[in-house]
Amino acid sequence: MPDDRFGRNIHYLRISLTDHCNLRCLYCMPEDMTFRPNAELMQDEEIILLLRLFTSLGFDKIRLTGGEPTIRAHVVDLVHEIAATAGVNSLSMTTNGILLGKLAAPLKEAGLQRVNISLDTLDPTRFKSLTRWGKFEDVWTGIQAAEAVGLTPLKLNMVVVRDHNIDDVVSMANLTYEHDWQMRFIEMMPFAGQTGFQTSLVVSDAEILEMISTKLDQPKLLNQGMLDGEARLYRLPGAKGTLGFISSVTNPFCAGCTRARLTADGKLRLCLLKEKEVDLLTPLRAGATLEDLRAMILDGIWWKPWGHGLAQGEIATNRTMSQIGG
Ligand code: SAM
Repeated sequence: MPDDRFGRNIHYLRISLTDHCNLRCLYCMPEDMTFRPNAELMQDEEIILLLRLFTSLGFDKIRLTGGEPTIRAHVVDLVHEIAATAGVNSLSMTTNGILLGKLAAPLKEAGLQRVNISLDTLDPTRFKSLTRWGKFEDVWTGIQAAEAVGLTPLKLNMVVVRDHNIDDVVSMANLTYEHDWQMRFIEMMPFAGQTGFQTSLVVSDAEILEMISTKLDQPKLLNQGMLDGEARLYRLPGAKGTLGFISSVTNPFCAGCTRARLTADGKLRLCLLKEKEVDLLTPLRAGATLEDLRAMILDGIWWKPWGHGLAQGEIATNRTMSQIGG
């Protein structure tokens, strides 16, 4: 498996299946977002070719994301091919859940193992205003469908935004009493497009934890604080599920990062919050050999940035979150 120059073993690839989305979340992109034409995005056979290169290098954990991965044409067939690729041991998806009511069963059958579903509130009116376009009921149906077909353990992602959904933190944490879900609270990060909004309305995980402790109960830290992926886990006394805190802004986990991202337009992005990227799709289309591409990937990984510089005021503004793939 490839190491970077800091000795981190990079084996987890997040592949963005499209930059397009069926929602326009306030913290993710502007409402009048323009998307890339399909011809500029990786085609199915290009995704599979690059995936094979990554697995041949030791990448074994794959997450499909976007944009919204479920709106990609023929997504079930593509998931089937990805799941059947030698070396893929773990295959999950991050989705807004809108289409899971229909797609959960075929995706599971195609070989998808788990989903993380984004949900920022249980209040339908607030849901509509945060996503601009979405219907809460569709996501709730999607969550039930995902659980019913076994796309589990189920994780729910909530980006907490001051003045918008901070009052929902307690009701979201409450879900874990009844459900064996991981309810994850994500600190909002700054990207292009919505940078002012994203930097002015961040709520720290410390504040969220304090709210839960005051209004519900004192959550107990799990695994001695060792991260589960990027989340620090807690459990409320008597709860079936867990609480996860992803403190990317106030307590970054860069030292333990094992990730790289492949954007929908075929760029290898080495750090979510740094602009450095290696273009793989242009050389692939220009006839680069597999050996050339392998060398480009290894070189990119070697030079993976140590971590983000948010504390120093450095913000990567070459892409919105939806264009990178969360
Ligand atoms: N459309 C899918 C979804 O909604 O889950 C996948 C893509 S979305 C960009 C991936 C994750 O990034 C979601 O959980 C979303 O809430 C999160 N996200 C988007 N913008 C963010 C931001 N500025 N800071 C932190 N998380 C963000």
